[in-house]
Amino acid sequence: MEERTEPWNIAAQLDELRAQGLWRELRPLDEVDGVIVRAGGREWINFSSNDYLGLAGSPEIRTALAEGVARYGGGSGASRLVCGTHRVHVELEEALADFKGTEAALTFSSGFAVALGTIPALVGAGDTLILDKLCHASLVDAARLSGATIRVFPHNHLEKLERLLKTAKGRVLVVTESIFSMDGDAAPLREIVELKEKHGAWLLVDEAHAVGVLGPQGRGLAAELGVAQRVDLHMGTMSKAFGLSGGYLAASRKVIDLLINRARSFIYSTAPPFHLAHAISVALNVLRSEKGEVLRQTLHDNAQTMKDILRSIGIEPQLTPSAILPVILGDEELAMSASTRLREAGFLIPCIRYPTVARGRARLRVTACAMHSLAQIQSLGAALLAALHRFKATTPDP
Ligand code: PMP
Repeated sequence: MEERTEPWNIAAQLDELRAQGLWRELRPLDEVDGVIVRAGGREWINFSSNDYLGLAGSPEIRTALAEGVARYGGGSGASRLVCGTHRVHVELEEALADFKGTEAALTFSSGFAVALGTIPALVGAGDTLILDKLCHASLVDAARLSGATIRVFPHNHLEKLERLLKTAKGRVLVVTESIFSMDGDAAPLREIVELKEKHGAWLLVDEAHAVGVLGPQGRGLAAELGVAQRVDLHMGTMSKAFGLSGGYLAASRKVIDLLINRARSFIYSTAPPFHLAHAISVALNVLRSEKGEVLRQTLHDNAQTMKDILRSIGIEPQLTPSAILPVILGDEELAMSASTRLREAGFLIPCIRYPTVARGRARLRVTACAMHSLAQIQSLGAALLAALHRFKATTPDP
């Protein structure tokens, strides 16, 4: 058996990952109860979830799912263009378009699928994609898949972006996140919008970590900055603040019609279950409601408390109003040991390493949620101090 797999070097590849401190493994949880997770009789406080507002376990979403399953059953049975489009999909897409202030929207089975479907449907050979260096893997893979020329600008570097815009050929699409997933900082969207308009390019903004968290009714950073109407393509996911799963692209009616005809991850994938579409509509209503506003305020208060605590232990947090607080340690193995020590102390904060972030930029990615109590946040501060104290002398400056 070993002989047959030998030409693939699987064992050697795994050994190399271990040797580089890049080994990853799945650790199943037995139970998720708000921000408490349990496995094998132990429990941890979860500071790594993107369920920012706690909707995943909320009564509204549990009821909506149960209602949806009772009404619509399980899977959708086919892709959207075959017989998988239900009225609930259409209603959800209308509600998303209204939320994002666009003519139309299209839902996909994940945020990753949105990127893979949308970008190659809009640009190809002879066109140019200009991406921020820290764009999510889904955007990078979509860019490669498109066949367009790929240009990358250093993170949030407007001068370099403009230089690339000046020399870009064909249709030109600028791609950025609004809140960056591993750094928690914000893109200078106002300036990027100015630049893309000056050079006649289009702009796709992935608001995965901003929707539900920022802007009026949680519409995202572009809405908060007043530039939403000038963004051509709004991408998002239902796997984070919505507390469910799926993704969407909101844009003009023409763009959505083109995606229905060209986006392969939409056309050739079974439609998301009807009960899920129903539950997403309910989650969207919660995001836009008074309750959503209260949850968002609690989330921001918690994030602010965490930032104050980080600062008090010598870690300078991002100034942006995001719920993602990276503690950059640099070395992969050091970050892994810090994460292990925190785990032993009862905190779930995975270490983020290459290839998710650059080599030598390993970090603990702490996320705030609306459900964290003040006591939980304070206990994290003490645990972080203890876990990091050991490494202080040896860690490079972030
Ligand atoms: N974009 C960003 C910025 C993300 O962080 C993620 C999820 N990690 C995605 C896209 C993909 O979304 P999904 O999880 O719904 O596939």
